[in-house]
Amino acid sequence: MSLFKSNPAAAPGSASRLTIPATVEQVLLAVSLLWALTANRFFFSAALKGRSFDDPSAWGFAAAMVVLVLALHLFLLALVANRWTVKPLLVVLIITTAFASWFMQAFGVYLDPTMVRNTLRTDPAEASELISAALLLHVLIYAGLPLLLLWRVRIVNRPWRRAVLVRLGLIVVAVLAMVASVMAVFQPFSSLMRNHKEIRYLITPSNYVWSLGSTLAAEARGAAKPRQAVGLDAAAGPSWAGRTKPKVVVMVIGETARAANWGLNGYARQTTPQLAEIAAQPGSSLISFRDVQACGTNTETSLPCMFSAIGRRDYDEARIRGTDSLLHIVARAGVGVQWRDNQSGCKGVCDGLPNDAVSKVNAPGLCEGERCLDEGLIADLDGRLSEVVAGFKPGAAPQFWLMHQLGNHGPSYFRRYPPAFKRFVPACEKDDLRLCSKEEIANAYDNALLYTDHVLASLIAKLKSRAAEVDTVLLYVSDHGESLGENGLFLHGIPYAIAPDVQTRVPMLMWASSSFANSTGLDWDCLRGRAAQTPATPVSHDHLFHTLMGLLDVRSTLLEPSLDLAGQCRVPGNGAVLK
Ligand SMILES: [Zn+2]
Repeated sequence: MSLFKSNPAAAPGSASRLTIPATVEQVLLAVSLLWALTANRFFFSAALKGRSFDDPSAWGFAAAMVVLVLALHLFLLALVANRWTVKPLLVVLIITTAFASWFMQAFGVYLDPTMVRNTLRTDPAEASELISAALLLHVLIYAGLPLLLLWRVRIVNRPWRRAVLVRLGLIVVAVLAMVASVMAVFQPFSSLMRNHKEIRYLITPSNYVWSLGSTLAAEARGAAKPRQAVGLDAAAGPSWAGRTKPKVVVMVIGETARAANWGLNGYARQTTPQLAEIAAQPGSSLISFRDVQACGTNTETSLPCMFSAIGRRDYDEARIRGTDSLLHIVARAGVGVQWRDNQSGCKGVCDGLPNDAVSKVNAPGLCEGERCLDEGLIADLDGRLSEVVAGFKPGAAPQFWLMHQLGNHGPSYFRRYPPAFKRFVPACEKDDLRLCSKEEIANAYDNALLYTDHVLASLIAKLKSRAAEVDTVLLYVSDHGESLGENGLFLHGIPYAIAPDVQTRVPMLMWASSSFANSTGLDWDCLRGRAAQTPATPVSHDHLFHTLMGLLDVRSTLLEPSLDLAGQCRVPGNGAVLK
């Protein structure tokens, strides 16, 4: 019997002994019960957090939550399932729910619209690292067994009048059960929903169905509208005309590097030995910002936000995605923009602008399939600098080169660095983090930071060696942090409002070539002094747009001088040569 075909013609007596006769409503009840009991463990533990099972009211609350989740899914399924749709619908939902519940339980993932958007954007290389034997076993048990039963089910049909009545009755009963379960524990339930709104994104599968619908609707709305041009007044600042040497602003967008494990920030382990050495040199222009807040907890959120004038302080995702990024604005003013990617793309930030990927450019020995080591970002840097120097004419526009790292992208931290950087051992060398101890995970994570330290230090060395020919500045900042098992959480992407510091605190640094500051009217010592203050000056991704506009010397009414980190350290009459 086909999985998708009900068998109304089969007379009761002729049914095979192996088939299970059931009405659509019975199937829906069974599946809702299955999900309530197997897919919502994370929701129940979050809802019951802080309660003791010695207290009888905790049992009442738990029972009410189970009934609520069961009735909710029964109600939703009853609205869409009929004798023809029930099997295909449940096949898709049962499989997806098994995957969803595994990721939620393994990594503490909340399936909100941001996370679903992030998942939809995952490239095959990223996805393959998330597949593990444990995941497949989980799916086999929680989807395979139910599907086996569903396959044997023979849908028993009722005459249509009776079918309609039964369905309406089921919907009414489900609604009454939801209302009754909420009313029975109204006080604690309403305070839970008020204080932990994000918990609703743990109710599976309605969480991902809702988030998917809202994400697709938002994308459709966005796709229907052209990107809104902003900063149309952006224009070259006065320093451009006086240029006698090319200027290149390099920005490295880090991935999943968290401030807590950053050597320069005082982490117990030295994860940034090469940068620390540069910082210790007399008169070093390396500046580390120690208190930096990311805009989001995942790449999909942070990247567009980092390059918008709106930022987190006035956060509006649709507006950020629907308007020009900093790159579009400065390119319009004449800046030579180039995005080089070693990850999952620029998330719309560089749309329509020159961009390429490390896996596509020649980076010998650094790539395996689509995955490349981050040194690929700078492999041809010398050549690019030579080109700029050769093509320079006095007064030429600055260059803005962006490099998007693979950085510490998890869960396979050990794949992010070559063997020479395997210094903290034993390091977790499995794609499934649950097979490693916390120490092994932290070791692999820290080794990946050692490699980023090496990439950044090599980049600085290259820029420094060309300082006589070209003025350069480097800005490095990570897009978000990472959980390494603290409070049972792994990876990142927790809703921003409840995200732990390890996911939102990121490393950030700046470095400038010897004559960069002078040629742009910046007092670098002043900037270093501001960053070195104790307590550390709070910085956030909101500063990036304005600081980069300042470094490129692009003028626009969009600029908020108070958010330009170097703003207070600029010599009046920007462009004047210091001393
Ligand atoms: Zn990221």
